[in-house]
Amino acid sequence: MPEADVDYPGTWNQFMDWFSDESDCIAYLEKIRWKNGFTCPSCGSIGNPYRTTRGRLTCPTCEHQTTVTAGTIFHRTRTPLRTWFSAAWYITNQKHGTNALGLQRILGFKSYQTAWAHLHKFRRAMVRPDRERLKGHVEVDETYIGGREEGLIGRKIEKKSIVAVAVEMKVGNALGRVRLRRVLDISEDSLIPFVCEMVERGSIVHTDGWSSYSSLSKLGYKHERTILSATGDPAHESMPGVHIVSSLLKRWILGTLHGSIGPQQLDYYLDEYTFRFNRRTSRSMGMLFYRLIEQAVSTAPNPYKSIVGGGKC
Ligand SMILES: [Zn+2]
Repeated sequence: MPEADVDYPGTWNQFMDWFSDESDCIAYLEKIRWKNGFTCPSCGSIGNPYRTTRGRLTCPTCEHQTTVTAGTIFHRTRTPLRTWFSAAWYITNQKHGTNALGLQRILGFKSYQTAWAHLHKFRRAMVRPDRERLKGHVEVDETYIGGREEGLIGRKIEKKSIVAVAVEMKVGNALGRVRLRRVLDISEDSLIPFVCEMVERGSIVHTDGWSSYSSLSKLGYKHERTILSATGDPAHESMPGVHIVSSLLKRWILGTLHGSIGPQQLDYYLDEYTFRFNRRTSRSMGMLFYRLIEQAVSTAPNPYKSIVGGGKC
């Protein structure tokens, strides 16, 4: 992973020191959003803007007025940026992530709903639309998430969601990056587009014997199939990557989120899991904070209503 272009705080004390008020946060967002200097969102010209009160910027060429938060997940927020930054720090510094109740307690949000909306806005920023495809040797399988858990009587019964899983396999069965997506079913029409979007052509794609994957070799992949019943090997031996990722994902959902996820919301949790998993070897939590803020200023705003609706834009 490339190094950050902008410095980031390494510890909580440093964080507190760097971001003591709103103007510190605005200046940091400007450095991250406009790495080559202010770029006017209206006319595209680059140059020092005129500054007025409360962080308003005026383009010297076309006089368009804007702010560093316009068109990002912080657009028109009434929450101080310092609170947003603290939330980002908290989210990225909890090894296993957090839930809305945790965030509400730590940051003193008045309602659970506000904490939840903030957390979901960050979750939306966790996956870059332009991210690179997986390559090399990639295992692909499906797993089932949610629904009724054994032993929990009286729980609301929900249908399980199907999640397609792709994992890069490195030398000695070490795991590389992952991609996850909720799919409607396990038909070819659901699974093949997942592979095509997530895995680079020319890669080795390893699946089980399920027939929905059989067109992969025609689509430019080197398709390896392991028919589990024929080998007699348990799944965790013949496809260790997807097996480990699926178990960790289920444990995370049960532990951090107490298993309570509707299928519509699952997509965002999968994005958060992917963000955490693919950065699990990052030595610095500050780096994760930086990446989240960087992605937050390049992610379009999502009004609360569209988050509740669940659909991805
Ligand atoms: Zn302009």
